Amino acid sequence: MNELLTISDQNLILHRHPRNKRETLQAWDSADEYLINYFKENKLEKQLSDNQQILIINDDFGALTCFFHAFSRTTITDSYLTLNSIKLNLSRNNCTTDNVHINNSLETFPKNVKIILIKIPKKLAYLEFLLQQLSTIISADTIVIAAAKVTMIHNSTLALFEQYIGTTKTSLAKKKSRLVFSVVDQKHIPEKKVAITWAVEKYQWKIHNHANVFSRAHLDIGGRYLMDNLPKGNFKKVIDLGCGNGVVGMAAAITYPEAQITFIDESYMAIDSARINMFKNFDEQQSDIARFVVNNSLVGFKANCADLILCNPPFHQQQVITDNIAWGMFNDAHFCLADHGELVIVGNRHLDYQNKLARIFGNCQLVTENKKFVILRAIKKD
Ligand code: SAM
Repeated sequence: MNELLTISDQNLILHRHPRNKRETLQAWDSADEYLINYFKENKLEKQLSDNQQILIINDDFGALTCFFHAFSRTTITDSYLTLNSIKLNLSRNNCTTDNVHINNSLETFPKNVKIILIKIPKKLAYLEFLLQQLSTIISADTIVIAAAKVTMIHNSTLALFEQYIGTTKTSLAKKKSRLVFSVVDQKHIPEKKVAITWAVEKYQWKIHNHANVFSRAHLDIGGRYLMDNLPKGNFKKVIDLGCGNGVVGMAAAITYPEAQITFIDESYMAIDSARINMFKNFDEQQSDIARFVVNNSLVGFKANCADLILCNPPFHQQQVITDNIAWGMFNDAHFCLADHGELVIVGNRHLDYQNKLARIFGNCQLVTENKKFVILRAIKKD
């Protein structure tokens, strides 16, 4: 697999993070290359005056942030994995970190921005959130260029650029990617809240969802199945691993009222949604002992720190379908559980998590199943 990106006058070694032993995918794509080549061919750096910067949004693994290392720039992401990828790739390529800010999606967007480079995200609601934020910091001479695989650019995508930025056109396709150019001529920017709230009738909860949260528009059916099949027991330290908006951990807070629930996700918007949901729907006593951690799985968590781990595992990273993250989560759970502690997961029937869990834990029990999902339980043996 190619790790060397040779482009314009630079050679960059780029890795995906978390790094996997048999990685077959490279850490950049043709949309990154198209964006960089366009920038250089059109000498866009000449447009930057002294205190102006480049704003990079949704860089996948750091190709853009590394390439533009000579410029003052802010890079914005909702992903902790991306944030770490960017930091590691910057250091791997000896790029100075003096003039870069790496911010998460909920931080305030910088104001002194001349050029905005966007890798278009898959979720339209998240793109809308980003464009809403951008609409408050751009001026008539801001240059806005986005890039993505052709298959990710739809009429609805371009309509959002038109709405929040201005007149929008696309480039020809090159290596299955396209650029999107938006000229700032904002007319009427709609006042719209991208975060949405819906109810879970069974518990009378109101669930807040930031734009980039998994299953933002409704309760995920896998998550619901897990909530309805929590194990019996007197658990004291429960982890909702990959918590999204936090519904699984919240169901655990009802089932085990004495337990401390730790919500973990790699999305900043997920963790903020889970925090809001816990505080809105539970009394102070329970919400105050809950913990909310943006993290890669359980990396850095100690052995024996949990007696129950609940997980509705992710099955993709960025645009790629993979079971690597789930596999990592199961291994981490095995390490972190106390003796006799339990990992309970929900998964699509066809994913064959049963075998994986049996290999890691030496046991795996099918708790229940329906046409689509299985609930599996593995116990840490001493
Ligand atoms: N628990 C929620 C539910 O049931 O609705 C969300 C489940 S969703 C299938 C998986 C979640 O795992 C997503 O919120 C995703 O952001 C998160 N995730 C993906 N990779 C992760 C990682 N390496 N560490 C922590 N969380 C991760």
